[in-house]
Amino acid sequence: IKKIGVLTSGGDSPGMNTAIRAVVRACSYYNIQCIGIKEGYHGLINNDMSELGPRSVKHIINRGGTFLKTARSQEFRTPEGRKKAFENFKLNELDALVVIGGDGSFTGASVFHKEFEVPFIGIPGTIDNDIFGTDATIGYDTALNTVIEAIDRIRDSATSHNRVFFVEVMGRDAGFIALNSGIASGAQDILIPEKKDSLEELLQTLERSQQAGKNSSIIVVAEGEELGNVYDLAKATQKKFPEYDIRVTVLGHIQRGGSPTCQDRVLASRLGVAAVEAILEGKSNLMAGLRSNKVVYTPIEEAIKKHNQIDEELIKVAKILAI
Ligand code: ATP
Repeated sequence: IKKIGVLTSGGDSPGMNTAIRAVVRACSYYNIQCIGIKEGYHGLINNDMSELGPRSVKHIINRGGTFLKTARSQEFRTPEGRKKAFENFKLNELDALVVIGGDGSFTGASVFHKEFEVPFIGIPGTIDNDIFGTDATIGYDTALNTVIEAIDRIRDSATSHNRVFFVEVMGRDAGFIALNSGIASGAQDILIPEKKDSLEELLQTLERSQQAGKNSSIIVVAEGEELGNVYDLAKATQKKFPEYDIRVTVLGHIQRGGSPTCQDRVLASRLGVAAVEAILEGKSNLMAGLRSNKVVYTPIEEAIKKHNQIDEELIKVAKILAI
């Protein structure tokens, strides 16, 4: 192994820069070249890449986003697109890839590996925390902290006006951000796709909280909630309780940005080094992750197919504390 390509793909997440930095510097430490590929698979298809040295990644450890940029490449989903990508892989004399992204990016890398035997190691970079094989994905902790800071502010307004706030948070089909931020911000109810929620239950919860003397509430709703979107839920609640002053806040993309937390920086640094070391040991088709504070490698198919499971204990804690 003499030359490794690194790319970020799919949705951006805070800490991706930190991971790139770690990959680049680990390559330098082990005396191999590192090539930064722009805009995910797009850059591989269009031969948009350049060498990165340890100094070219200075001052990015604390910067959100990804300086290599990320993209969703439709062309890479086609055999012709992947053929072009492989031609550039060869042209640049790359020996392996480090792919920083979510399950879609890993699926792409896996297909590419099957077709052209391109060795690769995945690093989980997504705020959603929906990937199996790691206790946390890069960006998740930062997103959680952004969400609780925002909900704390919303709480100030909710209590001042006796309002019920419905707050939608990101997470795609997963409820990790909603459940954990909901507990951390003292939400009255948390609606996530992993548990069967009902409108009746939500309304009962609100009624109970009113009877218990609470005059403001925060309901955290995961974007993937199956019961309905945040506006429909607010409308249905308003219908039942016309006297409520209800507001909706969709936190949106602020959850993707910002300086990564210490936890995300350490995670990204460890996984970046682990990915390079795995490639040097001849490993491939694996995802580097952290479980119980130890680096572990999970077969990429498992990382893609098995999803992280919501902890039932957390659901119980949320329920108990909303009394
Ligand atoms: P996030 O979860 O943060 O959105 P992601 O990595 O899951 O990140 P996707 O948009 O699903 O994001 O995937 C990123 C890219 O991976 C796609 O734009 C595409 O180029 C490639 N990709 C995904 N699935 C496939 C596939 N089945 N075959 C080839 N390439 C794929």
